[in-house]
Amino acid sequence: MANSSHDVVTIDELLNACSGYIQKQSNKDLIIKAYNFGREMHEGQFRKSGEPYINHPLHVALILASLHVGPKTIAAGILHDVLEDTDVTFDELAELFDHEIATLVDGVTKLTQLKLTNKSDMMVHNHQKIFVGMSKDVRVIIIKLADRLHNMRTLGAMPYEKQVRIANETIEVYTPVAHRLGMYKVKSELEDLSFRYLKPEMYYQIVELLDQKKVEREENISRMTDEIAEMLEEHKIKYDITGRAKNIYSIYKKMAKRNKKFNEIYDLLAIRIIVDSELECYGTLGLIHAKWRPLPGRFKDYIAMPKPNMYQSLHTTVIGPNGQTFEVQIRTREMDQIAENGVASHWAYKENKKITSKEEQEEIVDKLSWFKSMVEIEQEEIDAKEYMDTIKMDVFNANVYVFTPAGDVIDLPKGATPIDFAYRIHTEVGHKMVGAIVNGQMVPLNYEMHTGDVCEIKTNKQSYGPSEDWLKIVKTHAAVSKIKQYFSKQRKVENIDIGKDLLMKEIRTQGKAVDEVLSRENVQKVYKDHHYSSLEEIYHAIGSKAFTAKQMYNKLMRIEEELTDELIEKKINKNQPIRRQKSENGIIVEGIDNILIAIANCCKPIPGDEIVGYISKGQGIKVHRKDCPNINSLDRLIDVEWDFDFSDKKYHADIRVKGLEREGALMDIIKMISITNTNVSAVSSNTADDILTVTATLTVADAHELLKVVDNLKKVKHIHSVERIIK
Ligand code: MN
Repeated sequence: MANSSHDVVTIDELLNACSGYIQKQSNKDLIIKAYNFGREMHEGQFRKSGEPYINHPLHVALILASLHVGPKTIAAGILHDVLEDTDVTFDELAELFDHEIATLVDGVTKLTQLKLTNKSDMMVHNHQKIFVGMSKDVRVIIIKLADRLHNMRTLGAMPYEKQVRIANETIEVYTPVAHRLGMYKVKSELEDLSFRYLKPEMYYQIVELLDQKKVEREENISRMTDEIAEMLEEHKIKYDITGRAKNIYSIYKKMAKRNKKFNEIYDLLAIRIIVDSELECYGTLGLIHAKWRPLPGRFKDYIAMPKPNMYQSLHTTVIGPNGQTFEVQIRTREMDQIAENGVASHWAYKENKKITSKEEQEEIVDKLSWFKSMVEIEQEEIDAKEYMDTIKMDVFNANVYVFTPAGDVIDLPKGATPIDFAYRIHTEVGHKMVGAIVNGQMVPLNYEMHTGDVCEIKTNKQSYGPSEDWLKIVKTHAAVSKIKQYFSKQRKVENIDIGKDLLMKEIRTQGKAVDEVLSRENVQKVYKDHHYSSLEEIYHAIGSKAFTAKQMYNKLMRIEEELTDELIEKKINKNQPIRRQKSENGIIVEGIDNILIAIANCCKPIPGDEIVGYISKGQGIKVHRKDCPNINSLDRLIDVEWDFDFSDKKYHADIRVKGLEREGALMDIIKMISITNTNVSAVSSNTADDILTVTATLTVADAHELLKVVDNLKKVKHIHSVERIIK
């Protein structure tokens, strides 16, 4: 490179670097326009090393030009930081340039915002997947790699901590991605730069050792190349031959992996021969093997069996003059391009290639599916099981990657919704969700998640759980089974609660003690008659309407159903409770009479809710639900309970219903409420971002009735959540 990485590059130098393959004025104009816009936008911004910011994107564009990418990719490379670092918006960029360029810049910005520092190997592998999966266009990755390469070249200006963090991220995520894209040159430079910051002592030791042996090595190489050249000329094969320096990091890896000392690494002497045709590759190999003895097990034919990243070449190691071992690579010019720049060479821009944007799009998709199905196999041996596991893990097609607000990644199948996301976080988060915010915007629960979305789940402890619509919306099996589980369990628990309440009420009506009715003897008899094994089954039988509470009471007490005087009297005087004086609100405070009792307006408890009394100053007892967040002191609380005999009092309950906006939704909600003869005393609704929210105050007898209303509401089409509100 003519420039050191901090040197200020000019637009002319960039155009000059492209001049080998970009000559059309319109293409040059696009690059100039991107430059002028970028410079203007980054005006007044400086890099850590002190030079004007625009210098960085220009260097990135220079790297891109060396890969022979097209003018749009170069323009996007110049603009790659404007969305992140300036006020420019996507729309402005699309307007000023075009949608394609704006999308490329947007893709790079998303990769930049990814948090890729992590601990476990699994996460590292995931990050590689995410990195690739997030970039719908290979060009995004190529730009991002160029960006990282320049940042690594200028990493010296950063504080130590940042150097280590970035170098780690580079070696864990960027170099494997460069490897799988076959971008060998970028990969090995990134490796060496990272290595330099991560293990400086080791790095400089190897550099020094290489320097010491440099003269000797070069002599050996030139002697070998001379002999090869002579031989190829004799056989009239046109060739290019280079002595190749292995990158420092790969020497280190070899030393570490084989536990060898530097001078035991025998393929430091490496030669590359480039010929015109595949046939000549094999011909050259034959000549070399005929002259120098090959080391067994070191010959590899990557021409017949290309690597997954398209790499093709013949490899052999031979014992040359003076008993030195040489690693020899033989390949065609085209193979060499692919070996150096991988996928980027595939994208090499040809100005006169006439294709429409649709064709180009198809080509992108085509390349991409190759790219997606590509599996990661390291150069090293890899066993069959591992190979299969890798393939299984690489399901780019099927997955979207969604982020929690904390930056954790959740991978979901395509088409997944915030509900799937919520259940992946935690079952309870799923059960209690009442809304989702994606990228700062409230979305309906059937929203289709996209890779890169940041999703926050809104939950409410007072939510009545999943609605039936959810089963039609979710895409993951896990969510389906958890929702189904919820419904069956919920039904059971509810029925047990309801049954228990009804039986207790019956026992009280009969004026009996609970212990007496549910004596061991009584209970055992019922167990035996009905094959029950627990009290819960007795309650469930009542709650699920198998028996009435009265019937069960009679079974327990072994009395045939008969009308007692008391019962007759009660039936006649339905509204005049016979047992004792009632409090006005249907609430009993143990041991206290004639005290002012009021139902708290914030949580509005109804019979069936767990309640507690709060002794207010001068205003008697306020009855709250036990889970009301407004009770914050414990010392003024008093036990209160519902008086279940009190049957004509009605209570208010506030609920919030959310779902998709659609014609007639509000009417359906009100209709569903009225099925249970429940009155609505207040209702309001609003719609935002396609989400309908209805708030209603219902007048109900007890929690049982409210639950029935809620169950009905959850059956309304496109209703996604019902929650009780505490003000
Ligand atoms: Mn950048």
